[in-house]
Amino acid sequence: MSDQKLATVAVRTGIDSDTQYNAVVPPLYLTSTYSFPQLGEVPTYDYSRSGNPTRNTLADALSTLEGGAGGVVTNCGTAAMNLLVSALLGPDDLIVAPHDCYGGTYRLFDTRAKKGDFKVCFVDQTDPQALADAFAQQPKLVWVETPSNPLLRIVDIAELCAAAHQAGALVAVDNTFLSPILQQPLALGADFVVHSTTKYINGHSDVLGGVLIAKTEAHAETLAWWANCIGATGAPFDAYLTLRGLRTLAPRMRMHEENSAKILAYLQQQPLVGTIYHPSQPEHPGHDIALKQQKGFGAMLSFEINGSMAQLETFVRELKCFSLAESLGGTESLICHPSSMTHRAMSDEAQAEAGLKTTLLRLSVGLEDPDDLIADLAQAFALAAKEAV
Ligand SMILES: *Cc1c(COP(=O)(O)O)cnc(C)c1O
Repeated sequence: MSDQKLATVAVRTGIDSDTQYNAVVPPLYLTSTYSFPQLGEVPTYDYSRSGNPTRNTLADALSTLEGGAGGVVTNCGTAAMNLLVSALLGPDDLIVAPHDCYGGTYRLFDTRAKKGDFKVCFVDQTDPQALADAFAQQPKLVWVETPSNPLLRIVDIAELCAAAHQAGALVAVDNTFLSPILQQPLALGADFVVHSTTKYINGHSDVLGGVLIAKTEAHAETLAWWANCIGATGAPFDAYLTLRGLRTLAPRMRMHEENSAKILAYLQQQPLVGTIYHPSQPEHPGHDIALKQQKGFGAMLSFEINGSMAQLETFVRELKCFSLAESLGGTESLICHPSSMTHRAMSDEAQAEAGLKTTLLRLSVGLEDPDDLIADLAQAFALAAKEAV
């Protein structure tokens, strides 16, 4: 299976695996428990917190797509992150995380560190000196999010992994923004990959889910043990829906990227658009690294409104094809104001330090016809331009 192309793995996962009725699509096992054949004979599955065929099919598919030894499907992306730090870190252990990571990641690490569960140090991972100083403190784990949210900063995964391993640290990469179709961190040296499958992998904005994939068998076993211990595993029905979404991941990513390239070209012409953040832009820091380590630039983009907050509000309010909502990676287009939405858990100082301005907007470009998306942006910009500055 692993020598197949990614699109084929995604489509054919679990197909023809039913031995009872030869169902083409794998059945959904909603059971919480399983009968023992007889006293003293433990079946393959005994209780769905520890194992479930539907969930395991999804875990195996995602692990294969990322080139891992095994993975755990969790009830959300945050649970996958929490599983990793619970399994790996003790009170004296340090995790180095990016200062501009996903808001919920920041909240999780910051809150648990304040409680004394482990130590955390947030750094600008694109600053070699800051990174070297952090590595000098001998971290146990380095957290990477590339492209980062919401500024699409790029970290050189191979280079960072080499330095982290030299310092004795393990590396986990949050690959939510690109999916395994566009980036495979384990092949670049990472030890773990995390996804919020809520986003592109499920792709239809109707399921919360996560996955944590390990490169080695030993780590995969440890994580499976901990997932059962702390109750982090996902529901079978959610896994079934996510498997359904996964089958179209490759063509969806291609279309998301095509639409976002058209929108980028349009945004570049707009007087109300300030700095655009997307790795495809030659002036974007990390453009060359993205070219090297990504198989595409991805469909998430951010830009600053070159105008007043009143103009920003009008623009967002008048949009019809972009829903004002958190999250990303669904078939429908979304717009988000990170400083008051996804990143509101960060203090104003932390936001400023991360370079996150109040004029920043983030787009998750969906699969609508790009002409309609551009026409919608155009009418909202026209109304915003009339707004008194
Ligand atoms: C959404 C998201 C998460 C958290 O995942 P949930 O499924 O919402 O718990 C983590 N990292 C990134 C980059 C995300 O976008």
